[in-house]
Amino acid sequence: YRMGDFYELFFDDAAKASAALDITLTKRGAHNGKDIPMCGVPAHAADTYLSRLIRAGFRVAVCEQMEDPAVAKKRGPKSVVLRAVERVITPGTLTEETLLDARENNYLVALADSGTELGLAWIEMSTGEFATESITANSLAVTLERIVPGELLLPEKLLHNKHLAQTLLDWHDQITSQPNSRFDPENAATKLQSLFGVAALEGFGSFSRSEVAAAGALVDYVALTQVGRSPRLERPQQVVAGSVMDIDRATRRNLELNRTLAGDRFGSLLSVIDETVTGAGARLLSRRLAAPLTVACRIRDRLDAVQFFFDKSDIREYVRRTLQGSPDLERALSRLTVGRGGPRDLAAVRDVLKLAAEIKLTISEIENQPPKDVISAITALGCHDELINCLSAALVTDLPLLARDGGVITPGYSIKLDGLRALRDNSRRTIAKLEESYRSETGIQSLKIRHNNVLGYFVELPAAHAPKLDEQFIHRQTLSSVMRYSTQKLADLARNIAEAMDRALAIELGLFGELVNKVVNRSDEIATAAGSIARIDLSAALATIAVNKKYCRPIIDDSNSFMIRDGRHAVVEDALSEARQGAFIANNCDLESGQRLWLVTGPNMAGKSTFLRQNALIAILGQMGSFVPAAEAHIGVVDRLFSRVGAADDLARGRSTFMVEMVETAAILNQAGCRSLVILDEIGRGTATFDGLSIAWASVEHLHEVNKCRALFATHYHELTALTAQLTALKPYTMRVKEWRGDVVFLHEVVPGSADRSYGVHVARLAGLPASVVGRAEEILKTLESGEHSGVVVRLADDLPLFRATSETASSQQQSLLEEEIEAI
Ligand code: ATP
Repeated sequence: YRMGDFYELFFDDAAKASAALDITLTKRGAHNGKDIPMCGVPAHAADTYLSRLIRAGFRVAVCEQMEDPAVAKKRGPKSVVLRAVERVITPGTLTEETLLDARENNYLVALADSGTELGLAWIEMSTGEFATESITANSLAVTLERIVPGELLLPEKLLHNKHLAQTLLDWHDQITSQPNSRFDPENAATKLQSLFGVAALEGFGSFSRSEVAAAGALVDYVALTQVGRSPRLERPQQVVAGSVMDIDRATRRNLELNRTLAGDRFGSLLSVIDETVTGAGARLLSRRLAAPLTVACRIRDRLDAVQFFFDKSDIREYVRRTLQGSPDLERALSRLTVGRGGPRDLAAVRDVLKLAAEIKLTISEIENQPPKDVISAITALGCHDELINCLSAALVTDLPLLARDGGVITPGYSIKLDGLRALRDNSRRTIAKLEESYRSETGIQSLKIRHNNVLGYFVELPAAHAPKLDEQFIHRQTLSSVMRYSTQKLADLARNIAEAMDRALAIELGLFGELVNKVVNRSDEIATAAGSIARIDLSAALATIAVNKKYCRPIIDDSNSFMIRDGRHAVVEDALSEARQGAFIANNCDLESGQRLWLVTGPNMAGKSTFLRQNALIAILGQMGSFVPAAEAHIGVVDRLFSRVGAADDLARGRSTFMVEMVETAAILNQAGCRSLVILDEIGRGTATFDGLSIAWASVEHLHEVNKCRALFATHYHELTALTAQLTALKPYTMRVKEWRGDVVFLHEVVPGSADRSYGVHVARLAGLPASVVGRAEEILKTLESGEHSGVVVRLADDLPLFRATSETASSQQQSLLEEEIEAI
């Protein structure tokens, strides 16, 4: 509740907020004989506290004062100031720069069910993007992973749906449940029709009942939280099933697309390929990376745009220089449309549209015709000269944050405003003159006219001079060394100034409102221009990456090919070069039909996982419309990407590490089809050797015979190589190593063939296992490798050598030169 200069919270809200914000919980008044808990934050710092509350998972209703407290007082001494909820702030409906991450999208998503099918709808308040998709209970998880809801609206009846329970558990913190009645398809259709001013929704697409219900619930929720102020929403776009690559949660996590496994942006694929210079460009990159396309011709259009900026280095550099540091037009526009925009948002509109006009002119002057996507982006930049001129003429250079602070409109824009400002300035000059005349009248040179918020204007002079004053000076205040007085003349002048300022401010606010309206009336065109700027920024950014990091343009078509020559792992390559740890070794991968399943064996630390992942990342990069880290790439469109790499437990769901591994493997074997790409790393390692080997063995057979997909299968079970004799499309590959003076050198090179050892003990030594353990392990390994497993184990156990081994190895261990040197020092 706004209480003058503070926002205050009461009762339970106060207790929760004071804990979440770490502010003092006090009390104000009593209710039913008990103190009312209260806490508060200063209104000017409210945004900071709001963002903390929202991040802590709260929703905040903001109740503002709707009248001047002085007006309320006139109704009687006990009357309460009129207040009303102006807005409900929820995670999915944010618009403030301070509450949003400039480089991340923030989606409000609704899920509805019509009994037979499910529908999703989502909007991005800050861009007006509005989309729907018809889904099934099985595809819900994959779709939510792609969209990443900031807030997920759910009808109450779905909260306990057992088919959706596992998926919804992953989004538990984002879920906001709503009454079922808000998801009524008939009401929703009416609402959407009236919002877009159409008689039927069919013109926008053939939406299912649940898609309509979900879309309607969103519109409803926005109206509820924005208290009637509707943001600009585009017409809903229907996402056709299968038009984007399916990537499930485990695969996204394992491949560290947007975040690393530890949850950081740094070290993810996104962080390595993000060269965009605008927030909107970064958000578009994040969207495209989350949803690589499966329609080859659309991918090629995107690649053409990147190629254009790749070839034209001068244009690329020019575009990037021009957009660098430009304000966020999309988000400024969204704030203006919901009535929360400030003067600087207007300036953002003016400045970015000006840049857009420049870019449009420069690109349209190029001799050769740019590709389709670039032309459409340039055309969509539109022409906004009139608006730019109007805003340029109206706004001062150094704008305040809030319109109500005044000083927004430039002199010369409004005669009326200029007149009032002149009046105010004249009065100020008159005050300066009055000070002069008081000084000469009284003969006190140190007399000053000053101003503060309590007394207004007053005369101030050292206390010693006070007796010299005549009766026109009315005593107001005595401080230790000075006395303060008011005079009638000063009061009249102060009133003139205050009146002129009030009137000037009212006129300024009126003019500001007119300017905002001008922008809002053109919001569709401006949003289109903002979207184009993001596309241009992204294409130029991807071209920059391609040039700087030597990425190549992939050939993408509907074949079943997957041929990568000299492929690299974008992130590992970057990390190695930054750490100056030598060059990344490029590797080929060709999953042509005779060898669509690669069995990759090789030592630990040789680079198997890196190789597997790099190929999956190349597929994603290529299909999102980017050049790829390789010398040459030919990718037949991948419709679903699966990966099973790494190990982690999921204790929250009651799953052990091995269980997680098996659940992920099950998902792959049950779902992968002939157009899928699968990477499987070390299946079956989290259990007993024979169990693991058997599972890995059967999985390879299933992939080969049933899934028939393109796949890379890395394993330490060298026994699986035997399968290559029977499975015609399974080919063995291995990571090359060189043994040199008893040491192992990893060459990180993938070559045909299979490994016969894993050099695990060697890696253990590198990792710093105690020498006694390494020595003993080598001994055991030798025995195991030489004989029959069963008898050997008994013999080894009989000859329990724990202490013998420790003492022997410790004594036989020679000191290294380095150790001797250190000891000598
Ligand atoms: P393990 O079987 O122990 O899991 P692995 O064979 O899967 O090992 P990776 O994890 O892929 O090995 O690679 C180990 C390290 O080797 C990487 O962290 C990276 O630093 C380096 N490496 C991998 N591939 C290459 C490469 N192609 N060029 C240069 N360095 C590489």
